[in-house]
Amino acid sequence: MINKKILIVGGGPAGLMAADFASRSGVEVTLADSMPTFGRKFLMAGKSGLNLTMHEDDVTFQTRIIHNNNTIEKALEEFGPNEVIEWAKSLGIKTFVGSTGRVFPTEMKASPLLRNWISRLDELGVTRQNRWKLKSISNKVATFETPQGLLNKSADGIVLALGGASWPKLGSNGDWKSLFDPAELESFQASNCSFMVKWSIKMSKYFGQPLKSIKLSAGSQSSRGEIIISQKGIEGGGIYSLSAQLKKGEDLILDLLPDWDNDKILKLLTMPWGKSSSSNVLRKRLKLEPIKQAILREFAMDVFKEPALLTKSIKSLKIPLNGTGPIQTAISTSGGVKMGSIDENFMLRGRPGVFCAGEMLDWDAPTGGYLITTCLATGRMAGKRALQFVSYC
Ligand SMILES: Cc1cc2nc3c(=O)[nH]c(=O)nc-3n(C[C@H](O)[C@H](O)[C@H](O)COP(=O)(O)OP(=O)(O)OC[C@H]3O[C@@H](n4cnc5c(N)ncnc54)[C@H](O)[C@@H]3O)c2cc1C
Repeated sequence: MINKKILIVGGGPAGLMAADFASRSGVEVTLADSMPTFGRKFLMAGKSGLNLTMHEDDVTFQTRIIHNNNTIEKALEEFGPNEVIEWAKSLGIKTFVGSTGRVFPTEMKASPLLRNWISRLDELGVTRQNRWKLKSISNKVATFETPQGLLNKSADGIVLALGGASWPKLGSNGDWKSLFDPAELESFQASNCSFMVKWSIKMSKYFGQPLKSIKLSAGSQSSRGEIIISQKGIEGGGIYSLSAQLKKGEDLILDLLPDWDNDKILKLLTMPWGKSSSSNVLRKRLKLEPIKQAILREFAMDVFKEPALLTKSIKSLKIPLNGTGPIQTAISTSGGVKMGSIDENFMLRGRPGVFCAGEMLDWDAPTGGYLITTCLATGRMAGKRALQFVSYC
């Protein structure tokens, strides 16, 4: 396919994967990004231990991706958890499965993987362009703002992988929505995000501290991850994984002693307290740390003298939430290009030859490697379909 050109805009996992696939068939591939380097959000994901995928069968995996048609499932059928592990291996990155089934690179970081991936794209002949910000697309001519001024780049096929709208300083700012007709878009919403809680002044000494060894539940979902108490509310892995349910209005329930059953707690609380303070009883008999006691007092102070009610609160403490935290700090966003705006080949219905992939599409998923795997799978499929498209045009 000499003389055919594919332009990929956005150098996160979805765009890099589109370039990886498309560059293997002799077409000229250019990968452009507005930032000075590629994969900044991907590198940020690696700071807390890059969770590439989840070790589970394809069908179970696909049920965790929330979307409203089966286009994404088809991409995941071709590139699911096993393929992610093989792909990492092909880049010289060994992975391991953690106790919860999450799959990480042995080194936990994203930088070695990203370095090897970019080297591979160089070997495949991909032309890399940084500091190119896409401003418009018309008739398969993309106009970029570059340090040298406006630049037009024509291509036979274009893949857009411009990311969601969280962590704007890393390039994923959602500014690209001006490239689209509003009818093609769904508004962005924070996902895998923090939630706001109105704490009393008494909680301020715990701001920044983790709450560990707890169980969180929202509707039918639960999580054993830790959370951090922040000035504005709660954040951390434990709450991110429940954000879809919490956004639907389910209550957040904390079990402060998930490994203790109700009877054991009730028995210990029913024994006479003598002159002991409630703090001492909770600390000595239940081993309840100060931060757990503080959150219990915050929302269940009125039941401290009632062992049965106190037991119930320890096992299922309702935390009143005041909405999601700022979208800028969310792990991911839902919203963006509506799934109905693309066809089954990830091509925009109104613009033949222009494909979309990754987090810029309107789907949602919990943390656990579901996000990166879906970005890789949709990026690969968009690259594949763009290649097929240019071979016929
Ligand atoms: C702190 C943190 C931890 C995370 N941890 C995990 C994890 O462990 N596992 C997991 O699965 N997911 C994780 N994620 C989410 C994951 O990083 C994202 O879902 C993923 O990076 C999205 O990939 P993408 O390629 O669609 O978009 P992005 O990675 O956001 O890349 C989009 C690219 O497009 C570029 N761009 C945007 N607009 C333009 C424009 N107009 N012109 C040119 N270029 C443009 C941007 O500069 C950016 O490089 C984490 C995210 C964060 C913030």
